[in-house]
Amino acid sequence: MAAGRWALEMALEHAKTREAFGKPIAEHQGVSFPLAESAMELHGAHLMGLNAARLLDQGGLAIKELSMAKAYSVEIGVRAVDRAMQVHGAMGFTNEMNLTEAWHALRAVNVADGTNEILRRTIAQRLLKGDTAL
Ligand SMILES: Cc1cc2nc3c(=O)[nH]c(=O)nc-3n(C[C@H](O)[C@H](O)[C@H](O)COP(=O)(O)OP(=O)(O)OC[C@H]3O[C@@H](n4cnc5c(N)ncnc54)[C@H](O)[C@@H]3O)c2cc1C
Repeated sequence: MAAGRWALEMALEHAKTREAFGKPIAEHQGVSFPLAESAMELHGAHLMGLNAARLLDQGGLAIKELSMAKAYSVEIGVRAVDRAMQVHGAMGFTNEMNLTEAWHALRAVNVADGTNEILRRTIAQRLLKGDTAL
């Protein structure tokens, strides 16, 4: 999820330099914890992608795993961009940061190429057919 990683990097940089209440905002847990959440989710999405690729390399169809990876990656990517906007305060909504544009583009991918609901439907169907390996 390159856009999510990009947003997290920007948020980290901003949080280290912007000061409020006498210290960099990164030192306030209300700012740093959401960034840790984004890091955890982005790492999880990365591993889901790698696992789906591994299964495909082994000749499998990886229908469930690809559906999970796509739905999860896009959802957490949107969240990472949204958190980055929040960390930037009002600046997060200006054109110079490109975060609003990234949010809009990513949000659309929750619908494009298989909506999140249809991907969940596919995952559930695979589970109910006995494909329960996780
Ligand atoms: C940026 C973007 C690019 C796109 N590019 C292409 C492209 O290149 N080629 C192409 O062919 N199409 C493309 N699409 C279209 C996209 O595939 C469809 O928008 C998508 O499949 C949803 O169809 P729909 O818009 O008709 O919504 P609908 O099918 O009307 O669905 C509306 C809502 O109901 C939900 N829903 C529907 N059925 C169920 C169900 N059984 N259970 C639960 N929820 C359900 C959907 O998930 C969705 O949230 C693109 C869309 C976007 C946003």
